[in-house]
Amino acid sequence: MANESKYVYCFGGGCADGDASMRNSLGGKGANLAEMTNIGLPVPAGCTIPTEVCNYYIDNANHYPPKLDDQVSEALKKIERVMGAEFGSRTNPLLLSCRSGARESMPGMMDTVLNIGLNDETVQALAEQSGNERFAWDSYRRFTQMYGDVVLDLKPRDKTDTDPFEELLETRKEAAGVQYDSELSADHLKELVAAFKQVIKDRTGHDFPTDPHEQVWGAIGAVFRSWMNDRAIVYRRDYGIPHHWGTACNVQAMVFGNRGDDCATGVGLTRDGALGTPGFNGDYLINAQGEDVVAGIRTPRRIEESLAVDMPEVYEQLQSIGQILEQHYKDVQDIEFTVQRGKVWMLQTRNAKRTGFAAVRIAIDMVNEGLITEQQALRKRRIPADDLNQLLQPIFDPEAKAHADQEGRLLTRGINAGPGAACGMICFHATDAEAQFKTDPNIELILVRRETSPEDLRGMRVAKGILTAFGGASSHAALVSRQMGKVCIVGCAALTIDYQQGTVTVRDQVLREGDWISLDGFTGEVFSGQVTTKPSEIVEVLIHKTKQPVESETYQRFEQLMTCVDKARKLRVRTNVDHPDQAAEAIAFGAEGIGLCRTEHMFFNHLDEIREMILADTKAKREVALKKLLPHQRKDFAGLFRVMLGRPVTIRLLDPPLHEFLSKRHLDEQPDLADTLATRLQVSHDEIKRRVEELHEENPMLGHRGCRIGIVYPEITAMQARAILEAACEVQQEGIRVHPEVMIPLAGFLTEFQNQEAIVRETAKIVFQEKNSTVDYSIGTMIEVPRAAICADQIAKSAEFFSFGTNDLTQTTLGISRDDYGGFIGYYRENDIVPNDPFQTIDQEGVGRLMKLAVERGRQTRPDLKIGICGEHGGDPASVIFCQQIGLDYVSCSPFRVPIARLAAAQAALDE
Ligand code: PEP
Ligand code: MG
Repeated sequence: MANESKYVYCFGGGCADGDASMRNSLGGKGANLAEMTNIGLPVPAGCTIPTEVCNYYIDNANHYPPKLDDQVSEALKKIERVMGAEFGSRTNPLLLSCRSGARESMPGMMDTVLNIGLNDETVQALAEQSGNERFAWDSYRRFTQMYGDVVLDLKPRDKTDTDPFEELLETRKEAAGVQYDSELSADHLKELVAAFKQVIKDRTGHDFPTDPHEQVWGAIGAVFRSWMNDRAIVYRRDYGIPHHWGTACNVQAMVFGNRGDDCATGVGLTRDGALGTPGFNGDYLINAQGEDVVAGIRTPRRIEESLAVDMPEVYEQLQSIGQILEQHYKDVQDIEFTVQRGKVWMLQTRNAKRTGFAAVRIAIDMVNEGLITEQQALRKRRIPADDLNQLLQPIFDPEAKAHADQEGRLLTRGINAGPGAACGMICFHATDAEAQFKTDPNIELILVRRETSPEDLRGMRVAKGILTAFGGASSHAALVSRQMGKVCIVGCAALTIDYQQGTVTVRDQVLREGDWISLDGFTGEVFSGQVTTKPSEIVEVLIHKTKQPVESETYQRFEQLMTCVDKARKLRVRTNVDHPDQAAEAIAFGAEGIGLCRTEHMFFNHLDEIREMILADTKAKREVALKKLLPHQRKDFAGLFRVMLGRPVTIRLLDPPLHEFLSKRHLDEQPDLADTLATRLQVSHDEIKRRVEELHEENPMLGHRGCRIGIVYPEITAMQARAILEAACEVQQEGIRVHPEVMIPLAGFLTEFQNQEAIVRETAKIVFQEKNSTVDYSIGTMIEVPRAAICADQIAKSAEFFSFGTNDLTQTTLGISRDDYGGFIGYYRENDIVPNDPFQTIDQEGVGRLMKLAVERGRQTRPDLKIGICGEHGGDPASVIFCQQIGLDYVSCSPFRVPIARLAAAQAALDE
């Protein structure tokens, strides 16, 4: 509160005690009522009792601070003066409303009381003054009912409880033979008021209060108490609104939209909130009070369609108010208004909620209109970076989705790992998906798996979407899907998948192979059957090239936005890809390099050779197998270098445990595999089995993986280094610049790093001699285990760059398996154990501290150490902001998240 002993802030008659900057005290509604008054808009006079009083009231057993009473009386006098009416007058009565209004809007969660000040005398005066007896008694009927429900707490407590007032109203309507409240006559309403008062007397033991001052104090208390009602508490928990904020209470002169046909009530937006189309739009009802719009008793009319004809002067007033509001607030406004006798009165304004589409359109239009600067357009508040997703992915047609929900087709919800909307026929095996795709490249499939592994890659590539029962946001399915730009939902615990039967069961619903299923990767919702989708125009222009830029305004606005983004940001944005076509997509989205190429994904195209290498029992035999792999790897790397045209390409050496390529599971699933391998390698069937058993690990993620493979089998590292450097020489000779960065995975000891570094450098020397040419390259490491972060000063003695592998770093720091946390993370989130999914958003206090330490220590040793991040967090806006704060040079993420990371990087720079 600006002033410790000031408990009431008045507004009206062109001036206000408060303003928009005081929303913490006055709440959003109160602060904006004051602001609108200050800028000369028509606001019925009133006063705001700040949030601090609510907190005092709750903390002091529903008592108010001592001087509040006097200050409210003073304020009421001011309101009377401005409005030219008197509270409680029997000739010219002022009526009041009491409305809640917290710092953040909590729609419909707290209470409101309207028409305060009516009693048996003032109702007569209102009838005479308005010349409309029915209107006066209708207002009185509404007031007694609302007062009884809200202030005297007679409203139903649960679904089985009934509202005594509603019951009487229904009975009265039946007796009168009418359907709507509005068809009841003044006499009916008089009867109802008497009956309502009797109910109050019966239920509370007290008469309905006729003293207007007692009424207003009753309403103020009810508004403050409603901050603590169950609905409001649950809402605050869901939306992260602190319980100590409290609500303000706005006491304001009533204006009436139900006083005749030159009156109305309405809500509107200064631009469309779904698509951002310019122009005032909204709903209104002639001769009605605000609650009627919400109650849905009468269908409201659209402002943009008919108001100009129904009430031309009102339409003009609203247009001009809309312009003033946007000029002033520099943003789209969401307003409530009342029309009384042809005059518009403003009851509320706030920044409007909007979709990602609308956010971009509105921000860019406002820049082009000269209303805001480019930098203002980029603010998080205007375009949450994640919302850009909506522009890049196909989306479900909102109406079709709502329809599917109504039809009971929503099956379950999982972790929304790859955004977008996808429909397809269920397919349980990647090999089947691939085979079906070969016969019909237009086939639409959803790959449904308990989980995926690298072998499923080819099936994933041809599927429209991927659905798994297990796994979390950085599970294989999730990260590969994002990399491929596929829709993906993981960790859908409610799914029971039976591969043998070819069924997936959710509760009592059984879906079979070939049945249609639809995934909303934005929300994690899974629907049975098909839901209509719409393609992204930006992807049509940039990736599919099926649209020209001039044909798509959405694309043009996106392009303009991204140009502003690139001017503002400091962090570089790279991409995680393994294939040239993915790299080309990422460049189209603005990637400036490859931050992570996972070489093992390439190996899955050459399983025979890699299995031969794994099964070799001598170094010499391994080298024979590796020689066969070399040309494939070289070709793959050359492909990447050609597409990347001199941009940095970080290639990580082999990382996963070898049994991902050959394990008991493979032998079980493919009964003739052991024999095929035995024949091919000229060893016995038993020998194959023995080697496979040897490879088995209880905790593979903490086992023989990462640089530990290359240390035990140096010839693997040598082959990969050779493939990278030979490819680099080859492409350089074609006249294309190359910039390879070799990355050692999972190192925790300097010695581990140095061991691998020596092999790479030695190989480079040989390759350069053979090729009679050299290539600039660097060698760095991933920081994926706490020891690497803690000992970063030592590792930086040799490593030329760091890249945070936050998937593993989160897993190893938290001791939570990235593949198994789906079973409890939902519970953790719902019960506020963790604020976010730590595999989606960096756990700043834990993992983030280690990262900060690693940056500081690494740069102590090597001040120009280049540091990036290539875990899934590199595409998460909150994590990108954190990366900027701790001084990283770049973030790297999947292609479709590149624009999001660019925007988040710009927002991070603007926040500084
Ligand atoms: C990581 O651990 O963050 C990482 C990028 O490596 P991967 O996900 O391949 O283990
Ligand atoms: Mg890793």
